[in-house]
Amino acid sequence: MEQIRISVPNEIQKVLDRLEANGHEAYIVGGCVRDSLLDRTPNDWDVTTSALPTQIIETFFDHRVIETGIKHGTVAVIVEGQQIEITTYRSDGEYLDNRHPASVTFSKNIRDDLSRRDFTVNAMAYHPKHGLIDLFDGRRDLSNRVIRCVGQAEKRFEEDGLRILRAIRFASVLNFRVEEETARAIHSHSSLLSGIAAERIREEFCKLLTGVGAVRIIREYMDVISVFLPELALCQGFDQNTKYHCYDVLDHTLYALDECETDDLLTRLSILFHDIGKPHCYTEDENGGHFKGHAPIGVDLTEQILRRLRFDNDTVARMKLLVELHDLPIAPQRKSVKRLMQKLSDEDIYRLLELKRCDRLAHASFFREVPPEIFRVPEIMQQIREEAACLTLADLAVKGGDLLAIGIPAGKGMGEILNLLLDAVIEERLANEREALLSYAKQLTFDQQ
Ligand code: ATP
Ligand code: MG
Repeated sequence: MEQIRISVPNEIQKVLDRLEANGHEAYIVGGCVRDSLLDRTPNDWDVTTSALPTQIIETFFDHRVIETGIKHGTVAVIVEGQQIEITTYRSDGEYLDNRHPASVTFSKNIRDDLSRRDFTVNAMAYHPKHGLIDLFDGRRDLSNRVIRCVGQAEKRFEEDGLRILRAIRFASVLNFRVEEETARAIHSHSSLLSGIAAERIREEFCKLLTGVGAVRIIREYMDVISVFLPELALCQGFDQNTKYHCYDVLDHTLYALDECETDDLLTRLSILFHDIGKPHCYTEDENGGHFKGHAPIGVDLTEQILRRLRFDNDTVARMKLLVELHDLPIAPQRKSVKRLMQKLSDEDIYRLLELKRCDRLAHASFFREVPPEIFRVPEIMQQIREEAACLTLADLAVKGGDLLAIGIPAGKGMGEILNLLLDAVIEERLANEREALLSYAKQLTFDQQ
């Protein structure tokens, strides 16, 4: 047996011990073994066991147990406040639809369970006393930094098309390459992804995009990405025909992504989609190519894509703003920055600035200097935050009631006046002080009449 030590969290050790004490086998398995061997922090710790779901429940009779996954053999147990997924050894039946096994068979043999797993690096199990079980040379592939299917790649992708995207997701996140046979099967079977639920695609794609190898993988597997992002495929080879650009639209996008210094998902998505409208508005004159209006078209396409992939409303709304604003200059002045702060959260302003910085660095070499506003805007923002400057109606030193008291009737006119007061304060034409605001309000009512 291999001499390997993985330090297992307390609550997991308790789960393993308790299952064994009740006559069952139990191991940690999958991502947590892989990540521990790579010295990465595991996202979660999964346990696999010979115990049947009912036996797991019996074993943890004195714990809270969540039975939602029980049909597939998964029971979640709460130990020391942690939710731990415990799954019965199983082998999957025939896959009839490229998505789900038609049946699940529980097994007493861990070999069956490891064989059904997707990649060799994900198919290892470990127990602090019994060591590592590595039936498919997962350790060798880890040290060679390779993603390889367990068994025959084509067959494994035919069983579950999502594995195609998972393979390149892991290659991106771990910065691994894909073994040749697996890579060939990914390319030849990419269309299977079109039958996979949008939520599952979204989850894997988001991880891929935030991985360190994202740009390399997207370039290499553009045929796969195109199955669920055909809009991006249209950018491939789309010549920009202008001196400001030396790359086609897709290459420009990927070079921009390569400049990105954060693994923040929204920043990366906004970079990926910022020019997605370009192929739809190309015009040419004696000065070369133009993409007038590509931002608003990009906004619509971004919304379509994100809705199709079942992103939540909040993400859709924020992404639309980033795409809309990506090409507009921001004057490094208090007034403009305040206007921006009315529209976007501070976090999203930082995203917008990063998007603009990366966009610029992916232009033709003579046009790559980062505009100074990128550095100035955060300073101005900080100053405005420190002053707790007035940015919204709620911050204004007068309310509707104050206007009523000086004889301004409630209704649309009052709303307009409040907004004009806010404008004046934001533009620093007027101090956010009660007396000044009331006298300006009177003047405005007078003008309205
Ligand atoms: P992460 O760090 O992202 O959680 P993970 O390896 O734990 O990575 P999960 O999606 O949490 O990935 O799945 C846990 C384990 O279940 C995997 O390591 C793999 O062994 C197995 N698995 C998950 N999805 C599939 C699949 N579609 N086909 C085969 N095995 C799978
Ligand atoms: Mg996991």
